[in-house]
Amino acid sequence: MVDDVLLSARALVLADLGARGYADAGGVSLLEAAMGERRWWVEQWPDGQPFVAGLVATDVQDALFDQGIRWPECTTCASLEQHALRIDPELGGPDPVWVCETSGEAIARLGGLTAG
Ligand SMILES: [Zn+2]
Repeated sequence: MVDDVLLSARALVLADLGARGYADAGGVSLLEAAMGERRWWVEQWPDGQPFVAGLVATDVQDALFDQGIRWPECTTCASLEQHALRIDPELGGPDPVWVCETSGEAIARLGGLTAG
């Protein structure tokens, strides 16, 4: 059960990394690191399963940000300033979606980003 949740979370985040060109060795290793931590977390707290995918996405987002990479960028707004999407709800789930951090508008479900 936990394995299914983790596999699904990994697939969703990997899809969104790929949609924006970050499903490379660097992106995947950040994803694997986040998966390892969240596996431990959800094994301690099985009720957290609905939140895992969104939390993994946020973990990877934070890790990329530390490397100076803004992922995923909002490509929807006309705003000239580059800005990012964030996971909503902030707890990571259930049913995580990417929302624009500027407009607050829902852009895509987690795993449903398009090339931007
Ligand atoms: Zn935006």
